[in-house]
Amino acid sequence: MITGNEIRRVFLDYFAKHGHQTVESSPLVPRNDPTLMFTNAGMVQFKNVFTGNETRPYNRAATSQKCVRAGGKHNDLENVGYTARHHTFFEMMGNFSFGDYFKDVAIEHAWNLITKEYGVPEEKLLVTVYSEDEEAAALWRKIAGLSDDRIIRISTSDNFWSMGPTGPCGPCSEIFYDHGDHIFGGPPGSPDEDGDRFIEIWNLVFMQYEQIDAQTRVDLPKPSIDTGMGLERITAVLQGKHDNYDVDLLRTIIEASAHETGVDADGDHAVSHRVIADHLRSTAFLIADGVLPSNEGRGYVLRRIMRRAMRHVHKLGVKDPAIYKLVPSLVGMMGTAFPELARAEALITETLKLEENRFGQTLDRGMKLLSAETDKLGDKGTLNGEVAFKLYDTYGFPLDLTQDVLRGQGQSVDIEGFNTAMEQQRAAARQAWSGSGDAATEKVWFEIQERVGGTEFLGYDTETAEGQI
Ligand code: ATP
Ligand code: MG
Ligand code: MG
Ligand code: MG
Repeated sequence: MITGNEIRRVFLDYFAKHGHQTVESSPLVPRNDPTLMFTNAGMVQFKNVFTGNETRPYNRAATSQKCVRAGGKHNDLENVGYTARHHTFFEMMGNFSFGDYFKDVAIEHAWNLITKEYGVPEEKLLVTVYSEDEEAAALWRKIAGLSDDRIIRISTSDNFWSMGPTGPCGPCSEIFYDHGDHIFGGPPGSPDEDGDRFIEIWNLVFMQYEQIDAQTRVDLPKPSIDTGMGLERITAVLQGKHDNYDVDLLRTIIEASAHETGVDADGDHAVSHRVIADHLRSTAFLIADGVLPSNEGRGYVLRRIMRRAMRHVHKLGVKDPAIYKLVPSLVGMMGTAFPELARAEALITETLKLEENRFGQTLDRGMKLLSAETDKLGDKGTLNGEVAFKLYDTYGFPLDLTQDVLRGQGQSVDIEGFNTAMEQQRAAARQAWSGSGDAATEKVWFEIQERVGGTEFLGYDTETAEGQI
């Protein structure tokens, strides 16, 4: 069986052989883009190259980029544990042309790599194109020999990519793999497209226009290519698995989790092991790239991810810190491809241990309170917002953690009530503040505290720089 690590190698070697510079993954914290929470696509490190503001000594590149989609516009946190194809941390393998080759070569490379190098049977593949992109449809017919019924035209923004309100943009074409009719789901564009049968493995973006303003779009003199293929998804295909969590890259951690907790990997608690494995990957890679758990910004997203994982360990009936013990299984699997992970092993382990110890104490008491409350609710009940606030304020339960527990039970949280309770507490704090007597300073302080959140960061809502759609 080909391993995930070998599949990454084959990808980079293939493109190197075709004149692409192999470029290291950039860090998860974007270097020059404060508006973007985490690197969420392969193109992020090349943004300025695509806009022409930066030049590189090469015009073709290939990477396997570390991505985290757990905040901002691309947020797959709520998908983890629910779909077979989403992680918060994953690798996006991509080839890029900066004004060099365009659509025909990009399609040819993608098709050859998948069907010849990787040997995926052609009849399992179908593609989407943007409804107005007849050129792409014709190329798929010509290069791949695909019949019209396997070239699906999509008119939504799913198949039209843009960097932002202005800048490079263009149609995209996605390659899907059919995992078989024993799995629920319909082809792209159909009402059941969100099932796990037809899985998008590779997205090819054809940057051929520049959006000047809302009304004006011009042709780019030198169109570019940006592609992204999920390593875990293609690995599932090549390892004959129908679920990303069954591939070696994830399975090793899941088995370590089963071993450390003493709970069967595939029994009733399979979902908890998957969430733990996924969240360990995000946690470890974020720490390796310099993010530490805190109460705001990126650090708060990390803390929330860690606490969600800890809640699942608790669900498995384990009260002592356990996640930190899984670090060697991850480093063993990925430390060669990402030496920064191996270098940060001690920091990752210690940070996890500290957070697990710290939150472990209130987690157990908070969970008892929460189950006493939810027991009183019926099916589809709504938890009182004040209780959710108490869990947040006294027990350190991020709101999304409480929501995650309830979602698993078909229940929900009264968000408005939660916000009201939060507001009331802030107002009370403002009143209790005896102050320095300097009204202006106080006003500024409370404004800052409210803007920054003081206790909770609610996320970057506006991202100007996006990865792939
Ligand atoms: P989906 O529609 O399945 O959510 P996407 O269209 O959001 O995927 P893109 O932004 O096009 O994904 O990213 C390029 C590729 O990266 C996808 O084709 C897929 O193979 C992979 N990918 C995207 N999101 C994830 C994720 N959360 N976990 C694993 N792989 C992913
Ligand atoms: Mg998505
Ligand atoms: Mg998609
Ligand atoms: Mg896509």
